[in-house]
Amino acid sequence: MNRVYNFSAGPSTLPVEVLETARSEMLNWRGSGMSVMEMSHRSKWYDDIIKKAEADLRELMNIPSNYKVLFLQGGAWTQFAMVPMNLMKKGKADYVNTGSWSKKAISEARKYGKVNVVASSESAGFTYIPELNPDTFSRDADYFYITTNNTIYGTRYTKLPETGSVPLVADMSSNILSEVYDVTKFGLIFAGAQKNMGPAGVAVVIIREDLITDVQPEVPTMLQYKVHAENSSLFNTPPCYSIYICGLVFEWLKKLGGVSEMQKINEEKAAILYDFLDNSKMFKGTVRKEDRSLMNVPFVTGNKELDAQFIKEAAENGLVNLKGHRSVGGMRASIYNAMPIEGVKKLVEFMKEFEAKNRV
Ligand SMILES: *Cc1c(COP(=O)(O)O)cnc(C)c1O
Repeated sequence: MNRVYNFSAGPSTLPVEVLETARSEMLNWRGSGMSVMEMSHRSKWYDDIIKKAEADLRELMNIPSNYKVLFLQGGAWTQFAMVPMNLMKKGKADYVNTGSWSKKAISEARKYGKVNVVASSESAGFTYIPELNPDTFSRDADYFYITTNNTIYGTRYTKLPETGSVPLVADMSSNILSEVYDVTKFGLIFAGAQKNMGPAGVAVVIIREDLITDVQPEVPTMLQYKVHAENSSLFNTPPCYSIYICGLVFEWLKKLGGVSEMQKINEEKAAILYDFLDNSKMFKGTVRKEDRSLMNVPFVTGNKELDAQFIKEAAENGLVNLKGHRSVGGMRASIYNAMPIEGVKKLVEFMKEFEAKNRV
């Protein structure tokens, strides 16, 4: 088996155990005589699969019963529109601009109402999470929107804004299930699956029930939370196979000890890499220390040719997809839940060797 350590930001590495289970169940899912790809989404079998996935996610994130869990299509991007289409009742929302994904969510929301950008770290290249002062929040906003982990820039919130009675909405695409969150602090959480859960295309939405209401009749049926909530994510044919894989990932995470155990491992993984960056004479992290992501670690040498050489030689050594996002440059190691600690250790070993060989 020639598996590489895949540091891709997304779609990203999946647990080998999950892929092996999927392989063993590919032709005949648990005696059904067919693949999950081939079965009716109205069958008892599939009902068991999607219900188990939801139950396991509820257990992992300790999701209270007054929240609905939805498996939707269209990735995280569709949520940039669904959130304002469904939640902007008074026509106003607060957003924090901490990176490209926030910016995209902001411009999409502007199509539906007034967006107040309460804080932004754009002028500093999104290298930190801005300090948030509740005095600057709109009291009459329909919701307050944040991106908990900024995939491209490698920052994350270490404390949540105090929004009072205004529901907090979070794009958790790149750090859901990587650290413990108190779901009751949020009105709505959404996440594309392809970073920490499964194949691209699915988005998980966790929404407090009182936010599920009738919407303007011109909102497309497929874009109404109420429709999906009333139909338990089976309004139309869902992305059946992708949800099944997410379910296997949830089972894997439960076996590992749940999110708090995963968080410990993630902190350990991130520390190995950050400690090295802090002591290296060649490689440097690019964001403010207090706001460092546990999932996406951008770094540079300060020399574009050296960066390119590093990326190339790393790939030759089975450490792939380390090129930084085109808007940041340099390198980025995405070390999601499924990246084993051995992968991070191997990366740091390789960086040490590279530094020793290329020291000027
Ligand atoms: C990847 C990502 C998205 C976009 O996800 P798609 O599934 O491609 O729509 C949105 N937000 C964040 C934070 C992401 O990391």
